[in-house]
Amino acid sequence: MKDRNFLDTVMEFEQQLESLQQQYNDLKKYVAHMVEEHQAIQTENLHLRRRLEELIGEEENLTQDETTNKGKVSLLDIGEGYDNLARLYQEGFHVCHVHFGSSRKGEDCLFCLSFLNKQNG
Ligand SMILES: [Zn+2]
Repeated sequence: MKDRNFLDTVMEFEQQLESLQQQYNDLKKYVAHMVEEHQAIQTENLHLRRRLEELIGEEENLTQDETTNKGKVSLLDIGEGYDNLARLYQEGFHVCHVHFGSSRKGEDCLFCLSFLNKQNG
């Protein structure tokens, strides 16, 4: 190998290393972004589950003992809770006890529908 060729090869190698370094940095940024997004979604999911459990708990308490809970939960709250659950169902998620909070995958669910019917009635 001539000296000139050797220098060219070294410079080429250096450029490849820089390019790889850049790709590695981009990949790291991408992974960091994905981890952030994943955590945000997990937090949101947890929050939604808790909120739904609250709403369902309120409804169950009211059904079990309507007189003692009338002061705590107003009819307006129940209407709002029903709207939230109905909206969530429309957006493609289960609101039934069986598959609570998971995706309906575009299919109607009889448990959800009977649950929503019960809430509305
Ligand atoms: Zn369901």
